[in-house]
This record gives sequence, C-alpha cells and structure tokens, in this order.
Amino acid sequence: MKYISLMGATGSIGTQTLDVIRNHPEQFCLVAITVGKNIELTRKIISEFKPELVSVQNQDDYEKLKAEYGHSIRLSYGQNGLLEVAIYEKATILVNAVMGSVGLFPTLHAIQAGKTIALANKETLVTAGHLVMSAAEQHGVSILPVDSEHSAIFQCLQGEKDSEIDRLIITASGGSFRDKTREDLIGVTVEEALNHPNWSMGAKITIDSATMMNKGLEVIEAHWLFDIPFDKIDVVLHRESIIHSMVEFQDTSIKAQLGSPDMRVAIQYALSYPNRLPLPSGKRLNLEDIGKLNFEKMDYKRFHCLKLAYDAGRTGGSLPTVLNAANEAAVNAFLNKKIAFLQIDELIERALDRHNVIKHPDLDTIKEIDQETRVYINTLF
Ligand code: NDP
Ligand code: MG
Repeated sequence: MKYISLMGATGSIGTQTLDVIRNHPEQFCLVAITVGKNIELTRKIISEFKPELVSVQNQDDYEKLKAEYGHSIRLSYGQNGLLEVAIYEKATILVNAVMGSVGLFPTLHAIQAGKTIALANKETLVTAGHLVMSAAEQHGVSILPVDSEHSAIFQCLQGEKDSEIDRLIITASGGSFRDKTREDLIGVTVEEALNHPNWSMGAKITIDSATMMNKGLEVIEAHWLFDIPFDKIDVVLHRESIIHSMVEFQDTSIKAQLGSPDMRVAIQYALSYPNRLPLPSGKRLNLEDIGKLNFEKMDYKRFHCLKLAYDAGRTGGSLPTVLNAANEAAVNAFLNKKIAFLQIDELIERALDRHNVIKHPDLDTIKEIDQETRVYINTLF
C-alpha cells in the first residue's frame, strides 16, 4: 500500500488524482490533503476518503471545519498547514498539485523528510529548480513527473542510458488561440482564453497554454527533471495532443508516448511507478479514426512567451524566478480583467529586463525576488 499526501486536492489535477486513488483502493490510501477555498468539495472528499489531516488556505474556513468535525480529524491552515501535509509522517508520496510557487517550500520540506514527490506543480521547478534537484539528490528522493509531456519523456527513457539521449522533443497543442495572429489577439476575452481545444484544466494553466508560457515553463521543467541543456530541448506544434512528447537518441531513433488526452494516465504512472495499472475508464486510441498526426514549426514571434522562457532558462540564476512570478501576477491580473491578453508578455518582459541576475540564489533570495516581482507587476497597471 502507498500512503499519499495530496496538495491541491480540489483542483483539476487534485480531483483526477482522487479518481486514480478511488480506482485502486488496494494500492493507494489518501492520508492527508490541502485545499484552497472550495470547502463544499472538501467536505465531500473528507466523507469519501476520510483523510487523517486536512489543511485549508484560510483561518476562517479552518474555524468553520473545526466546528463541524471537532477532533475527528486533524485540521490545519495556511502555509503551516501546507508544510504539515507535505511532511505528514504516514505518507510515503507527496502529490504536489497546487497552483503556483506556493508549492516550493512544502516540496523542499517533503524532500528533506524523504518523501517521493509526484510533481504536477511546474512553478516549483521553474522558481528554484537548482535547489529542488540538489535537495532531491542529497536526500535520495525521486521526483516523478505528472505533467503529461514530462511523463511521456520519463516513459520513453525507461531502460535507456542518459549518455545516449540526443534531444527531447516536447509537443505543444497550441492552446485556445493557436490559429490567431497577434493582431487577432487584441481584445480577446478571458472567457475565450479559457476555452482550451484539447484539455480541461485549471484557469491559470489554461491561460498559460494560450500564451504558450506553459510550454516555456515546461522546457525549464524538462531541463531540471532530465538534466538536459536548453539547446537539446525542442518544442513542436502538434495540434492533436496524441503524442505527449518524444526523445531522440544518438542513433537517430525517436521514441514517443501516445495516448488520449487524459491526465490520469500520467498521474497514475507517477503513483504506480515502476509498475503500470489498469485505467478502468481510460479511452483507448483508435488510430484508424485519428488517421493522421500533424507537426508544425513553432513561431517564436507569435508565441513571445516561449522565447522569453527559453532566454530566462538559458540565462538561469534568479531569472526564471522572475519569469515565473511575473507570469503568475500578470495572468492573475488578466483573469481579474485588469489587463488585456497581449499585456501579459509585455509585463513579463519588463520585469525580466529590469532584473539584475543573481547567479546562485538561495531560498531566502528566491522568496524575496518572487515577492518583489509580484509587487512590481502590480504597479504596472
Ligand atoms: P487548479 O486551479 O485546478 O487547482 C489548484 C489547486 O490548488 C486547488 O486545489 C486550489 O484550491 C489550490 N490552491 C490554489 N492556490 C492556493 C494557495 N495559495 N494555497 C493553497 N492552495 C491553493 O489547478 P490545476 O490542477 O490545473 O493545476 C495544478 C498544477 O498542476 C499547476 O502547477 C499546473 O501548472 C499543473 N498542471 C496541471 C495540468 C492540468 O491538466 N490541470 C497539467 C499539467 C500540469 P481551491 O480550488 O480549493 O481554491
Ligand atoms: Mg503539460
């Protein structure tokens, strides 16, 4: 039996993780969760899975649940609550499915406590990849990818030698606006941006997909997870989202992982690794129905965020921290209808341009830069 702590249980990845656990009660047991503000769903999760520890984002919700549940479960809240869940003694795996760099500190604590990390929260690796990966190495902890592209690469790499990898090829669906020019994007609405053609996901990552920043964050995530330099990580537009990513080897062979767009495949593989389990309601690919797959070159002018991310990743140091924090703040402003869609990459670029890069930032420096960047972005509109 694997005992699981789940951060972000009420989100898109969180609820799909619950589905995987629900399908395999003989393999997985949920022991601790964090949630944000969705208390109604939290009550349902408590009643179905009976976790021993539940942490909510705000003190008010904590008081509310305390009055309802008394001492029948352990309750907590805020940053401390995230940490408690991340290092909960009984858990052997932490699934990090929160949104944003708020996931960084709990992940580092979980690594120090020796937990295996199933990582959906890419912002954690973009913000402080050097700290996360070196802590994982130091404590002998595995970081297993949940992001579908990285899960695909991880699956392609099973049984292969690192020294024989030539390059990673990450596929991109193109997001909600893939067929629009930059001019077409003037005045697009939040509702239009939230309408992703292939995947149903949380709001922030759906906007990241529309700006292509999601792919940029994934390139940086892949760099850290697989220890591959940026000039050996390519992105190709593949509108069907059937091939989830590929690895090319030195003998020119390319391995790909294919499947229906269903995040539960990647989540379940991270939880069951090194084994595979059945996915009862999974949709099999019908290749004859699909007919053909398309691949196109990425347009880095059109998808400016992808270029910004490659540049920040290559420069390294504290610049990816700025990239991530600026993006989180700008996307939040767009979702709250404070800025236009095309301002997202403009504001991020301004934050990147003014930053004096620190080569090897420690955790306190990262925390400061993350906060300072958010404040700066909020002065720009
Ligand atoms: P959602 O917005 O659907 O869910 C986010 C979860 O985090 C919710 O449980 C939310 O709580 C909680 N949360 C948000 N902010 C805070 C906070 N400040 N403190 C504590 N909890 C918080 O996001 P997704 O599930 O889509 O994405 C989660 C992560 O996984 C992101 O990093 C994303 O990039 C990554 N990812 C997602 C994919 C997808 O298909 N959705 C695919 C690949 C990666 P509540 O709702 O209760 O307020
Ligand atoms: Mg992805």
